[in-house]
Amino acid sequence: MLRGLLWALGVLLLVIGVFWLWVTWPAGGAPKIPVSPGTLAAAPPQHIPSVDPPSAPLVGGPPEACEGTGAPLGAAAANAFTLATLPWQPFGKLEIGWETYAPRIAAEIGTTCAPDTDGFASALARWQGTHGVQQSGVLSQATFQTMLTGWHLARPFVRMNRDGMCPGAPPLADLAQAEARESFGGKTILLRPGALESYHRMVAAAKEAGVLTRPETLTIFSGFRAPDADAQRCARDNNCQGLTRTICSAHRTGLAMDVVIDSAPGFGPDSSADANRLAMSRSPLYRWMVVNAPRFGFVNYAYEPWHWEWTGEALLPGVPISSLPKEGSEPIVTEPPADSTSGKPAAAEAARNRR
Ligand SMILES: [Zn+2]
Repeated sequence: MLRGLLWALGVLLLVIGVFWLWVTWPAGGAPKIPVSPGTLAAAPPQHIPSVDPPSAPLVGGPPEACEGTGAPLGAAAANAFTLATLPWQPFGKLEIGWETYAPRIAAEIGTTCAPDTDGFASALARWQGTHGVQQSGVLSQATFQTMLTGWHLARPFVRMNRDGMCPGAPPLADLAQAEARESFGGKTILLRPGALESYHRMVAAAKEAGVLTRPETLTIFSGFRAPDADAQRCARDNNCQGLTRTICSAHRTGLAMDVVIDSAPGFGPDSSADANRLAMSRSPLYRWMVVNAPRFGFVNYAYEPWHWEWTGEALLPGVPISSLPKEGSEPIVTEPPADSTSGKPAAAEAARNRR
């Protein structure tokens, strides 16, 4: 009898011990942090959320309460202030405010509340609590860098780049051509067939959701780009450094596409001027896409609201990035691009920003 009791007690202690270990064990083998010696490398362990189904659909369901949610004191006011005033360099060049990224952040933290509300601050505090960031409810740079790392790593292309490799390009015969009405400006758009089919499904859903406001909305202005032609073009323009073009572009995979989101007056759909990116992020389409595009397998490069990569099939085996032609990828020392205030080596930026 006593022996039986002791035995049961032993088993119980063992179970408790295993449970304690399970709860307290550091989550997984934290993946190696990408590439750059800059801010990204300092980010805490990673989380890869962006291919999960969205936790808070933008449409449907009861409206979310956005006030009086018990957010950390002053958090909503702090977010309201920094939203348009924060000077920072999330992608290596100076930007003011974080409104451009607010829709993506809201999707990440699972709220439909505006960034200056209690509801947003509460959702952010909850997210911070589960991602090892100080639970302030305020969008700190550490919070954004942790999110950004997750967003980067949700892109198979970036994961391959992080290992120093550039994915292979499919033969032209393995690509499908988008219809003329799906192309912006009459360009020939080629994509992997799976990516094009998923794009069709996404367009149909966007249409149904009422977020296609103009005939050209969500048409494609760049799909597959042959590595040779891309390399020649960026070498010619001496802009292979990363923020505008790179020696290893995601467009070589046939899985990446640039789509018309919106544009500010006087800008084209591909201008990375801050005012233009802000206009895109304010559009109903982009707000819909950050929540819904992952359902169709698409992930976004956060700096470019127009650039989406389909994750539905594996990348082709790659070649070392170091083996690619370097023309045009040297850091510009004498005269930095007009919009760049970064003192970081261009190559490090390029590795992080490749798309
Ligand atoms: Zn692109």
